[in-house]
Amino acid sequence: MTGIEGKTAVVTGAGQGIGRDIATQLAANGADVAAVDVNEAGAAETAALVRETGRAAAAFRCDVGDAADVERCVREILAWRPEVHFLVNNAGIARDNLLLRMSEAEWESVLRVNLTGAFNVTKALSRSMIKNRFGRIVNISSIIGISGNAGQANYAASKAGVIGFTKAVAKELAGRNVLVNAIAPGFIETAMTAALPEERREWMRQQIPLCRFGTGRDVAAVALFLLSDLGSYVTGQVIHCDGGMVMS
Ligand code: NAP
Repeated sequence: MTGIEGKTAVVTGAGQGIGRDIATQLAANGADVAAVDVNEAGAAETAALVRETGRAAAAFRCDVGDAADVERCVREILAWRPEVHFLVNNAGIARDNLLLRMSEAEWESVLRVNLTGAFNVTKALSRSMIKNRFGRIVNISSIIGISGNAGQANYAASKAGVIGFTKAVAKELAGRNVLVNAIAPGFIETAMTAALPEERREWMRQQIPLCRFGTGRDVAAVALFLLSDLGSYVTGQVIHCDGGMVMS
């Protein structure tokens, strides 16, 4: 895909799931990858998979919700590669509960990782993108941030926040040739969704016009488009990748 080859990407939450698929698909299209994750072993495994494609990779342990840890991590990434072209803010968690039962810790932890995490990493890395007059940022939101979902007030608020954040930063950085978009995946087969009871999974499948759950590679394909030259006139947008589940 044009515009990917020879560039350097940072992918957060790259230790498994969608982040790992985005990292390996970026590498398959010629990018070098910094795999960032709170799970150091997972990040190292992803970096090894990237290297199998012939591209360079490095693994970085980092809690994206901790601003000081992100500053430290970004310093290490920029020492590895002084120019980062792509950032995919993918790290995310869910701590589902009904509103009346939701603890402050469940609320805070999800906002901290999903929303503050995107803010921390974008702030730390965009400085060099602005200086280089080039950057592509993709934030992984969710259709839950658009449609809402019972039992996910914290998650929905964090993912809706990511959309507002995406649009504001897209306007702020467009003049410096830094493009910022969001992807809203639907139901994607990963560890995050594997825990759901079969009955619930079947009900969800019936809500999907394409009649199947998505894969990490489905989401990676949209990320590749947005990061490549094919997406060079697209900024501030939210692209659904959900088999038609939520149409707006
Ligand atoms: P996943 O399989 O749980 O992978 C998420 C990765 O992020 C894990 O390696 C996790 O490490 C890491 N992580 C968690 N907290 C972190 C932190 N504070 N700092 C750095 N890394 C952290 O999730 P996924 O299903 O691939 O989801 C990836 C993204 O897509 C998330 O933002 C999610 O909300 C979004 N999404 C997923 C779906 C879906 O259906 N799967 C749908 C819509 C949106 P640990 O395992 O050690 O916690």
